[in-house]
Amino acid sequence: MEKLIIIGSGPAGFTAAIYAARANLAPLVLAGALPGGLLTQTSEVENFPGFPDGINGFDLVWSMQQQAEKFGTRVEMENVTAVDFSAPGAKKLTLEDGRILEAQAVIIATGASPRWLGLDSEERLKNHGVSACATCDGAFFKGKKVAVAGGGDSAMEEALFLTNFAASVTVIHRRDALRASKIMVDRATHHPKISFIWNSVIEEVVGGDHVEGVKLKNTVSGEVSDFSCDGLFVALGHQPATAVFKGKIELDEHGFVTLKEQTSKTDVSGVFAAGDCADPRYRQAITAAGSGARAAIDAESYLSTL
Ligand code: NDP
Repeated sequence: MEKLIIIGSGPAGFTAAIYAARANLAPLVLAGALPGGLLTQTSEVENFPGFPDGINGFDLVWSMQQQAEKFGTRVEMENVTAVDFSAPGAKKLTLEDGRILEAQAVIIATGASPRWLGLDSEERLKNHGVSACATCDGAFFKGKKVAVAGGGDSAMEEALFLTNFAASVTVIHRRDALRASKIMVDRATHHPKISFIWNSVIEEVVGGDHVEGVKLKNTVSGEVSDFSCDGLFVALGHQPATAVFKGKIELDEHGFVTLKEQTSKTDVSGVFAAGDCADPRYRQAITAAGSGARAAIDAESYLSTL
C-alpha cells in the first residue's frame, strides 16, 4: 500500500509532492491526461514570485516536477476513474488501465477545466475554429478575424495573446462591464487590435466544416445579429475536475471540494484537497502551490497518527 497518493500534476500537486517527498513519504503522483495542468496551456506566467522576467508555464511546472522527483516522488501518467474512500484505512483508487491502487492518504489536486457555452454548434466546431486555448491554437489564426467569449481575466489574456497572430480580436461579453482585473482591462481596452461587443450572448456558432461567424443576441434589446469571424475562443472560466469524487467526498454546488476547519482536510479522514479543485475564489498558480504545501503538511500530520 502507498503511504500517499497525489492526484493531479499542476502547481498544487507538485508542491504537495515536494513537501511530502522531503518528509520521506515517497509520494506517488497520478499526473492525469493533461500532465502539468492548466499552466501548460498558458503562455508567459508573470505573477509567480521569483521570476522577474516571467516564465513559460510549461517550464514552470516541469521544474516543479523535477524538484519533486529529486526528493523521491514517483510520477505516473494515469487517470483515476473511480475512488472508494469507504474503508477507514486504505483508500482505493481505480485507474484507467484497470489497476486498483491503495493508499493510506490521498491529496486531490485535480484542478479545473474550461467552461464551455454549451451549444451544439460549439461542440460540432471544436478544433474547427472553436477553441478554449489561445496558447494552443492561436497560431492557426494568423491574419484572421477572431472572437473571444467572456469578460474575465482569462478572456482578456486570451484576447491579448491572440493579437500576436490575428488581424483583429473582438471580445463578446454578456454584460457591459468586465469582471477582469484593472491591469488586464487596461491592456485589452487600449490594444489597437481589440474591440468589444457588449451585452451580447452567443446563440450559435455558424459554419460548415469551420467557423464562419457567430449569431448574437443583445441581452438588453433582444436584437439578433450575425458577426463574422474565422475563430471563436471560449474563455468563460473553469469547472473543477471533481466528477469522480461526487458522492465520495463533500463538494459544493459548483463541484468544488469543500474544505474543513480552514485546512486542506475534506470530510473524509485521510483525504485532503489542494489547488483549483478546492478554490472557487483565487485559482492562481501561486495560491495552488501554497495550498499544495498545506495539504502535504496536513497529510504528513495525519499519517504520523496512524
Ligand atoms: P471568471 O469566472 O473570472 O470569468 C468568467 C467570465 O465568463 C465572466 O466574465 C462571465 O461573465 C463569463 N461567463 C461565464 N459563463 C458564461 C456563459 N455561459 N455565457 C457567457 N459568458 C459567461 O473566470 P476567469 O477564468 O476569467 O478567471 C478566474 C480567476 O483566475 C480569476 O480570479 C482571475 O483573476 C484569475 N486569472 C488571472 C489571470 C491573470 O492575472 N493573468 C489570467 C486568468 C485568470 P460575467 O462577468 O457576466 O459573470
